[in-house]
Amino acid sequence: MGWEAGPGSGDGPSADLTARWTAALSDGHRDHVVPMSAAEARMLLTRLARGFENAAEPDEPTEQVAELGAELARSHFVGDEVLGRSLAVLSAYFTEAGTIAAERLAQLLGAFANGYIRAFRAWLLAEQESVRTAEIAARRAVTEQLRASDARLRAVFTQAGIGTGLSDMSGRILEVNTAFASMLGYEPEQMCELAVTDLTHPEDDPDMWELYLALLRGEHDNVQVEKAYRHRDGRTVWTNLNVSLIRDERGRPQYTLVLVEDISEWHALRERLHYRAHHDQLTGLPNRSKFIDALTAAFADPAAAFGLCYIDLDHFKLVNDTFGHAVGDELLIQAAARLRARARPGQLVARMGGDEFVILVPQANASDRTAEVAQTMLDAFAKPFDIQGHHLNVSASVGVMAGRADHRSADELLQAADTTMYWAKAAGRGRYAIFDADRGRREHTRAELSAAMPAALARDELFLDYQPIVALGDQRMVAVEALVRWRHPELGVLTPAQFVDLAEDNGHIGALGAQVLERACHDSRDWHTRFHEHTPIVSVNVSAAEVADPTWLDRVQRVIAETGIAPDRLQLELTERAFMHTTGRPLQALRTLAEAGIHIAIDDFGTGYSNLAYLGQLPLDVVKLAGPFIRCIRTPESPGATDLLVLESIIELTHALGYTLTAECVETRYQADRLAALGCDTAQGWLFHRPMPAHRVTDLLAATRVTMGE
Ligand code: C2E
Ligand code: MG
Ligand code: MG
Repeated sequence: MGWEAGPGSGDGPSADLTARWTAALSDGHRDHVVPMSAAEARMLLTRLARGFENAAEPDEPTEQVAELGAELARSHFVGDEVLGRSLAVLSAYFTEAGTIAAERLAQLLGAFANGYIRAFRAWLLAEQESVRTAEIAARRAVTEQLRASDARLRAVFTQAGIGTGLSDMSGRILEVNTAFASMLGYEPEQMCELAVTDLTHPEDDPDMWELYLALLRGEHDNVQVEKAYRHRDGRTVWTNLNVSLIRDERGRPQYTLVLVEDISEWHALRERLHYRAHHDQLTGLPNRSKFIDALTAAFADPAAAFGLCYIDLDHFKLVNDTFGHAVGDELLIQAAARLRARARPGQLVARMGGDEFVILVPQANASDRTAEVAQTMLDAFAKPFDIQGHHLNVSASVGVMAGRADHRSADELLQAADTTMYWAKAAGRGRYAIFDADRGRREHTRAELSAAMPAALARDELFLDYQPIVALGDQRMVAVEALVRWRHPELGVLTPAQFVDLAEDNGHIGALGAQVLERACHDSRDWHTRFHEHTPIVSVNVSAAEVADPTWLDRVQRVIAETGIAPDRLQLELTERAFMHTTGRPLQALRTLAEAGIHIAIDDFGTGYSNLAYLGQLPLDVVKLAGPFIRCIRTPESPGATDLLVLESIIELTHALGYTLTAECVETRYQADRLAALGCDTAQGWLFHRPMPAHRVTDLLAATRVTMGE
């Protein structure tokens, strides 16, 4: 009976799949014993297709899919190539659709095939059993029926699309059908001259022959294995093999019945899918998933010693952006080839994705062994790459991990290796860095803080303290420095040292700086409403990264306009280091603000390496002397003559340039007096005031007004 694929195969994602499947099985593949209409058949295939699709989720058990295969066989789809064609349709469809990951697809197809074969075997044995029963009955009475049954078994045996064979307990092959014989390139009679043991294959699992012997001893009734055979033309034929023990009436083992399904195509497909699932398409290296499997296995074995190199090409994005993706891809291919060429046997080189590679180094618990490997890999980049006429000098940075180093999982270990690689980048690229557990612990909380930052900005967890800056002459509060703090819901109040540079690294510094500036300007306006010309200048710290943002200038101007504070009531502080990184357009932005009357201060002066002459070229008003300078004049005994001399000349030079000098971290009266004697203008420090909330500044201002009799 033939039936065509047609409309009505149902809606939904599997309609197309059902149509293809129906077409593939549309002719002569179904046993006609149990009739089924074309519509019923389509309904069945639709249901099976849906079931298959629904199993796409990885890590789910595959029994349901095996059951789908079984259902196909139980519905008497037992003809030649039913399984093969079904697998081909399913595999082609889902590979195209991309809805099931390659590895999962291979798993599902395997489960489907197993389920099908299991059910098919059951069906065939039932047939065989009915023949045997009939035989016994026939011996007593109806010879006619015996002949009919026998004919039926013969028909099943010879016509089945699946190879079948019968052998005796000594392993002699008694009978095979054409399907089995031709699968291996023989005539049935030729195969009957062989013994089962003649069909061994180098790929045979040693356990398989153990199982066969156990079956012959009657310990099992059925064995199912995947087995390779050698075809007469030399190629390998992969099969799904079912061996069943047939017993006589008294239960003694009599024959073995084998059912053999040629799964070579499916096997090759599975190998291909497996390869694809574990290798990177571009470089051919093992991919992330294969690497993680290997690392997880190494990790799970407490006796295994291993090291890890995490490699990242330096400035790869620049290559891509400058020369295009074709050159970028070629660079990755060549880099992969160089890494692979330098790896020793046993070392696994894989591509993690992008321009990141990893090497698993076995037997390397000591860091110097792994560092040696890292150096070998760095040497691989010594020569330039020749790509499409470009001579590219590319270096790499490597993070080196030796052993587990207290990490709880392979994932954590990999994360640490990645972090270590960034240390190598931070140290100047083109080198390796070795993991350091203390630094790792510090950076771990950094990663957590970094992740919590957007929420903190959105939930107003940042607030400001103000530290007064006083005139050294009369100790009047002339300015306040705004100092940001983070009230973290679990960690309590965090200081800027714990999160400001993090915000600079993770790109949140713009939003952070904007909040600080707005808050400071608002507070300043409130003070101005109450204290008018006695309002202190508000001094706000700014990072180089903020100034480098092209939108920063506009934002500052907008905040000034919106809050309506006088520009000369605002001061911006950039550290000496920040100034060293500020040139070109960002420096111009500072000039624009300075021209508008905003004070610009160089913060922590004396900690960087800037040339004093360079000070004259900056749009400056104030130089803030860094704490370490002030600390050297703690007691009358301590100051070395040179230190004081340096201090004196800085103050002189600063004044010569027309700048005001503020001393930071003034903690003792002695320091204040010496600074005043040296001509320093203003000071800030615990001697005068600790940082305090805005309302305390208000109180201080109000108290001053009272003492001044206003
Ligand atoms: P800075 O601008 O040099 O700020 C002065 C720091 O010295 C403050 O630390 C202050 O509390 C501390 N200090 C003040 N007087 C004394 C003293 O007498 N002795 C000692 N030992 N320390 C004193 P804080 O608040 O932890 O700020 C640290 C740094 O964080 C600041 O250094 C500044 O560079 C940065 N920062 C603070 N707020 C912001 C901000 O809103 N944006 C940016 N970009 N950076 C900020
Ligand atoms: Mg400051
Ligand atoms: Mg400072």
